[in-house]
Amino acid sequence: MFFIRLKVIILSIIILVGMSIFLLYKVDLYIKNRSVDLLASQLSSITKTAFDIASITGLGVTSHTYEIINTAKNQKELKDLWISRSDILSEDLNKSKSTLRDALERKVYVTKTQERDINKIEGSNDHTARISIPIIANDNCIVCHINVKAGEIVGSVNAEYNLQDSIRTIYETMKLDFWAIIAVASLIFMFAMMMSISSATKIINRIRIALQGAINGDFKLRVKDTGLEISSEISKITNRLLETLDRNVSAIDVKISSLFVYNKSLYNKNPLIRLTELVSELANLFSFKNKLDSFRQVSEIYRELQITISKYIKYKSLIFAEFINGEITSGYKVENGTEMKVSAGEIKRIEERFNKENLNVLFDDKKGCIFISTSIDSLNVIDLKVFVSDKIMLYYSILFGSKKELQEKEKSISRIYNYIRDAKPMINNVFLVKSIEESSYTDPLTKAYNRFYLEKYAHSVEDKVSKNINYGILMIDIDHFKRVNDTYGHAVGDMAIVLLVETIRNVIKASDKVIRYGGEEFVVILDNCDIEDTYKVAERLRNSFAMAKQSSLGTIDFKKSISIGISSMPEFSRNVWECINQADLALYDAKESGRNRVIKYSLDLKAKDDEKKAREEREEREKAKKDNDYTTTTILGNDDDDDDDFLESLKLNNLI
Ligand code: GH3
Ligand code: MG
Ligand code: MG
Repeated sequence: MFFIRLKVIILSIIILVGMSIFLLYKVDLYIKNRSVDLLASQLSSITKTAFDIASITGLGVTSHTYEIINTAKNQKELKDLWISRSDILSEDLNKSKSTLRDALERKVYVTKTQERDINKIEGSNDHTARISIPIIANDNCIVCHINVKAGEIVGSVNAEYNLQDSIRTIYETMKLDFWAIIAVASLIFMFAMMMSISSATKIINRIRIALQGAINGDFKLRVKDTGLEISSEISKITNRLLETLDRNVSAIDVKISSLFVYNKSLYNKNPLIRLTELVSELANLFSFKNKLDSFRQVSEIYRELQITISKYIKYKSLIFAEFINGEITSGYKVENGTEMKVSAGEIKRIEERFNKENLNVLFDDKKGCIFISTSIDSLNVIDLKVFVSDKIMLYYSILFGSKKELQEKEKSISRIYNYIRDAKPMINNVFLVKSIEESSYTDPLTKAYNRFYLEKYAHSVEDKVSKNINYGILMIDIDHFKRVNDTYGHAVGDMAIVLLVETIRNVIKASDKVIRYGGEEFVVILDNCDIEDTYKVAERLRNSFAMAKQSSLGTIDFKKSISIGISSMPEFSRNVWECINQADLALYDAKESGRNRVIKYSLDLKAKDDEKKAREEREEREKAKKDNDYTTTTILGNDDDDDDDFLESLKLNNLI
């Protein structure tokens, strides 16, 4: 505001100085003209008097003029005075012609009116006034001067005055008054200007304060009207803008707080800047969610959460643990950016901290997400417990270097919570998909894989076999199982099947696969195992099953035995299905040769089987031929007496 006023004052001064210079010039000109006017009227009156005397007395104008002028020559300004005659008068008087001295004098002879001129004296600021007054002949004149006509110019009276003295006196007396007037005018002018801008400056000032407030985030300020028309319009527009900002920013604030846990103190106090921060926070959450959508492994989600925590919190170390059905299923520790194993003791201590009384709860959403903060001795830690579902529980334990660092970050917890809240359904989804996938691949009774899984797994086995990795195949079948069912019932039979799978699992490695191939038939695929090792495993299994006892069977104890046929890849085949058939052939042989044994597949076995198949085929053909001969003979050998029997026979053979 001060600068606006200053500008107005400077502008006023410039305008006033300009006007003063202009006025000064005009006044100067006016004074000069007034002085000349005065001198001209004096000269004119002297001339007239002299002319009047001359016309009465009949004596010459010139002598009278000089006389009068000399008597009136108190005018010290008079520099020169001369009188000229017209040519006609000179002739009439028989005198030599007058020489006209200057242009002004010549002009008077043409215009016959008084002429004047102001000339600057060279080399000084002073001026001279030149005045020429015509002498016009009247009726008296023509009495004496016969050649002269009335109304004709007969001469001129010329004078030259020094103007400076008269000007200076007028000017100097006026100058003081002039400047006084200018000063007063300036003040009035400035005051008027100030008055006219004061309402404008007032409204500008009020708008400035309101807008400054808005820039600082206060949209509650309003501009008060100054009463002028333009001011009320401007203040209305400004107020409308402030109201719109206030209303919309508050509405966005409310909407955003419904989208995620929103701790205002974490963001800028200025609502507009805060909005930008909140939108970027929401964008981060959105891209986090998008990223999670693409994950198929729950470990990827845990990792992303850990990265997000690191973004908001600088920690000394972080411990993560996953519990499924109360059992720890995975866990690690991150220190200085490197991942390492976490000890059971460390996880136990997290659990203990949650079990303490008087927990320093930082955040609890009542839905299974709790943050606690602990600062004891050298331990400054924020522990986070997340119940993802009834079965899944997670711990994140964030360790800080000092109590101060811990306290600084306690506020950021709500930010982390937003990510955890979004990750929870994603974690559940991954588990759900995994369990659906697993159930489609597993047999519900034994939890062993099913044939559907075998079809999928066969491809990866064949891939590895092509790289000369060995696989052993076992085809297992419980001996005389029908008898178990018949004697003890189907339920006990089921338990025996489950017992077999448990026994198999105890004998094989984690990377080996158990597949329920049929009722009480199982295929086991042993990873990285040649035929000799496969045989050893099969033997171990056979013995273990014979000894195995299941508590659920109670006192029921029956003689259990299994027969196993084995083969291996790539020794006997590079195709899983062919190898299974080979093991099946060996199993058949085990059954044939007395059960409760392990038989290796061999080429002899294959030859024996081929021979058997050929024999069976031959026998089949012979039987079919025999049946055919019998039917023909019967039909051809039919008597009339046997008509009824014949019809019956056709019915039986579905011929009619
Ligand atoms: P073998 O020594 O020749 O194998 O004689 P077996 O009686 O075991 O004969 P087989 O292997 O052909 O018998 C399969 C029987 O297993 C038929 C069926 O009653 C029984 N079984 C198949 N699936 C199940 C099942 O899920 N539960 C029970 N309890 N029994 C089953
Ligand atoms: Mg059987
Ligand atoms: Mg069977």
